[in-house]
Amino acid sequence: MTEKRVFLSKSKITAFEQCPRRLWLETYRKDLIHYDDARQAIFQTGHEVGSIAQQLHPDGVLIGHDDALHLALEQTSELLFQADRRPLFEATFAYEDVLVRVDLLIPEADGWRICEVKSTASVKLYHLSDLATQVWVAVGAGLTVSRACVQHIDSRFRYDQIGDYRGLLAEADRTQEILPLVNSRQHLVAAAKMTVQGAEPDIATGAHCASPFSCPFYAHCGKDDPPPTAYPVEVLPGQAGKRAAAGLRAAGYGDLRDVPADVTLDGPLQRILDATRTGEAYLDVAGVRAELSGWAFPRYYFDFETVAFTVPRWLGTRPFENVPFQFSCHTVHEDGAVSHDGFLDLSGEDPARACAEKILAVIGSVGAVVTYSAGFERSCLRGLAARFPDLAPRLLDIAERLVDLLPVVREHYYHRDMRGSYSIKDVLPARLPELSYKALEGVADGRAAQEAYKEAVHPVTPPERRDALYRQLWTYCALDTFAMVRLAQSLSEGDTP
Ligand code: SF4
Repeated sequence: MTEKRVFLSKSKITAFEQCPRRLWLETYRKDLIHYDDARQAIFQTGHEVGSIAQQLHPDGVLIGHDDALHLALEQTSELLFQADRRPLFEATFAYEDVLVRVDLLIPEADGWRICEVKSTASVKLYHLSDLATQVWVAVGAGLTVSRACVQHIDSRFRYDQIGDYRGLLAEADRTQEILPLVNSRQHLVAAAKMTVQGAEPDIATGAHCASPFSCPFYAHCGKDDPPPTAYPVEVLPGQAGKRAAAGLRAAGYGDLRDVPADVTLDGPLQRILDATRTGEAYLDVAGVRAELSGWAFPRYYFDFETVAFTVPRWLGTRPFENVPFQFSCHTVHEDGAVSHDGFLDLSGEDPARACAEKILAVIGSVGAVVTYSAGFERSCLRGLAARFPDLAPRLLDIAERLVDLLPVVREHYYHRDMRGSYSIKDVLPARLPELSYKALEGVADGRAAQEAYKEAVHPVTPPERRDALYRQLWTYCALDTFAMVRLAQSLSEGDTP
């Protein structure tokens, strides 16, 4: 029986490197693919960055023919040999039935520079494998490769002039580093072809399903996995928790509830173990009160929602910079009165200045500004101060007055249903189930808030949808700060559970 001929692409080789079963499923069971929203967003960003990389070479030529790759191969070889050599986008090569399209191919005195364009802030290990596959195919097809590089986002870039993205991409020359990977391609490609020619590989789910990408076949492969135990030892947080979990696993314990009473752990991990074993929450009311007693009134419970673009959209901003488009603030006065205010801008224009001004209108010159994980709010406030020097003294004063509820919770409270997480999204349903985020419509976490923002400001979004998103965002962010108010109150009063 003759073996069927197998054609592979760079992305199929990448899939094989993650997991042979993934390559097989991508070949025969595309119907089972399920990409999450985060992955879709990564694809979109990749297209945006790729298009900027092309704009930065205005004399470049795009090899089209996405649907007729034999034409793309022909056009590439014609352009490679013409006297006027120009940068090529999507130059196409085939070798040993592997086909690659090179993001950027730049003529140099001693050959062609292959550039892989990535939307990350640094070079990752899997980028080098991608680059090696391209070099292996291109060299095999007869190209003289002078250098092999990864172009990635330079997070120091600042967008200062409309449409000018020079400097957005930094280039890392990895020619020497990838040589062993290039040499391994022959063997790798042969193994990938054998996988495609065989039956679906019998590979169980594991850590490889999430690294370097979250695999789109997880729902398929994981459907027969046994349900996870309710309180696995791996919920123990931090590095110390990881070490303790490994020790407990090695001793034969998978669930914290099964760990015998004579087994003890260090410090805060013991609290988690006890609370999980007994089902009784740990709460040190005196400790909470002592910590909160230093927080001056009025107390401003404050939270930002931000959006970050890989390709900066507003002048004065950098790649991945968190730009606040929303905040919520619940103010608690010494007599117990509570009021709420906030800010939300879905115009699509740079929201930072108006946001900063509203902060200064809402937060007075005295009183603690309460956050949950203060580092994020502090860096946003400092970012606003850096952009608007006239507002800087007052913004920096607010940043100085930040206090943090997270370490108070971490030190003085634990309920086993938090499963090792001190995120307010996990603490709230355990402590105050009536305030759970699960009841929210649409936006229920920070990532969803970013996506909602991007959808709302998109020109094709109808006004009624934008209005709905506005309501969802407003409700979500208000819950974030109200949750802090109630949590601080509940923990200091020591009521049940
Ligand atoms: S879900 Fe895991 S086991 Fe299944 S194909 Fe993907 S990486 Fe392989």
